[in-house]
Amino acid sequence: MIENISNLPPWIFSLVGLVFGLAVGSFANVCIARLPKKQSVVSPPSHCPQCRTPIRAADNIPLISYLLLKGRCRQCGQNISLIYPAIELVTGLLMAAVFYRFGFSWVCLIFAIVVPALVIITVIDIEHQIIPDVITLPGIAFGLAAGSYLNGWLDSVIGLALGGGMFWLLAEGYFRLKGAMGMGGGDIKYIAAAGALMGWVQVLFIIFIGALAGGIFGGLGIAFKKLNFLSRIPFGPFLALATLISIFFGGPIVDWYINTFMPKPL
Ligand SMILES: [Zn+2]
Repeated sequence: MIENISNLPPWIFSLVGLVFGLAVGSFANVCIARLPKKQSVVSPPSHCPQCRTPIRAADNIPLISYLLLKGRCRQCGQNISLIYPAIELVTGLLMAAVFYRFGFSWVCLIFAIVVPALVIITVIDIEHQIIPDVITLPGIAFGLAAGSYLNGWLDSVIGLALGGGMFWLLAEGYFRLKGAMGMGGGDIKYIAAAGALMGWVQVLFIIFIGALAGGIFGGLGIAFKKLNFLSRIPFGPFLALATLISIFFGGPIVDWYINTFMPKPL
């Protein structure tokens, strides 16, 4: 049976990933709505935010129900935000990419857990300016276990200490200078988890790409007068984006960088 699955053509396997990812995206919506309020993600079942009517199983099919119901609650007719199907679609497409890239393997399973968490972190940080402990603390434990499998335990521990330590120092330095928190504790715990998962080279890559993306976003926001120098931009979405880039392309990009810019041994 297992041989049969691993022999599937990649596109069929990624189609399985897409369908699985749509369902996981539906669960991600529940997490996004409830984790910041410290509510259970298991019970009560999903309900319309307007009229509180529980959503029937047949009306809870990712994407399809939204299209069939034309984006409205069956009971009260209230418009349902496009964000819900958008999150399902994004999670589905990312999961298809994970399945395509990593095939039937433990590595695929690891990133099939990580990638939806990145989606959830991104949306919660945009909406609430927090990255909940209920994601990052188990994330650190998961990062150590999965990172030990991927890169060895030493790289995992160094990645955790390097990422978390750098952000902690930055936050502490900023606090001493300005008397205000620049970077949240959630960012520190996030990068510690990412470092444990991806190892010390990739955590530096993630910090660099995250800071670059955040800087470009902030610069554009100021240029187009949507932001000013005092605007608070959540860092989580940029770190999550950088982690995604690291997962899919980090290895080749770092190899290219080393081969191009590092002095060759004689
Ligand atoms: Zn309703």
